[in-house]
Amino acid sequence: MIRLDDVSHRYEIGAEKIHALKQVTLHVAPGEQVAVVGPSGCGKSTLFHIVGGMMTAWQGKVQIDGKQLQHLNDHERSDVRNQTIGFVFQLFHLLPYYTAAQNVELPLVIHGVDPKERRQRAHEVLDLVGLADRIDHKPFQLSGGEMQRVSIARAMINRPKLLLADEPTGNLDRKASDAVTQLLLEMSREQGMTLLVTTHQETVMKQFPRKIHLDKGEVVDETRR
Ligand code: ADP
Repeated sequence: MIRLDDVSHRYEIGAEKIHALKQVTLHVAPGEQVAVVGPSGCGKSTLFHIVGGMMTAWQGKVQIDGKQLQHLNDHERSDVRNQTIGFVFQLFHLLPYYTAAQNVELPLVIHGVDPKERRQRAHEVLDLVGLADRIDHKPFQLSGGEMQRVSIARAMINRPKLLLADEPTGNLDRKASDAVTQLLLEMSREQGMTLLVTTHQETVMKQFPRKIHLDKGEVVDETRR
């Protein structure tokens, strides 16, 4: 599902060059559940943006679901994003004036799905994430953990093969963090979605069967349970 081969990335600010990733090789099979872990600044977000096709790697090969991202133009890359990947972010990125159901429906609006079907599918995924009784709530009427459940439902509504989550529990307390992590693992198992999560939290990382440890842009260790 994911093949990174010798991927390096550097940012240039004026004369300064920051090597955010150094020759990272990472292969993830369909259905695998992987945590990319490491301290702040180790390159997790950079890796997330490259795997998600939001950024092109400076060097190396990036293949997602059989497609070499560096050979695609912006339009083709955004097709891969829309058709193959669901995204979950630390700060939820929900629209404040929309209800949970309207937020979850948004990717289907973009795909031109008719309103009745949109509504029905939004209800189904909100039910899956345990929010059947919060469908008409707006984000400010939800807890942090519930907001993240809404954003997981939104990420899943197009039935993606790959779910990518960048520090999904970074803004949650311990109890909500455990619940959201368990939900991500459960959804990935039940729907057969590959799951890749970045985190700096030990409690989150411990729950994953496979962990990739990054330090200063390099893979320094890999552990499996
Ligand atoms: P993490 O997500 O693990 O905190 P990042 O991928 O955000 O790590 O950052 C890796 C390194 O790249 C850090 O040294 C960071 O300061 C630098 N960096 C990240 N984004 C940018 C950017 N847009 N421009 C310049 N430097 C960046």
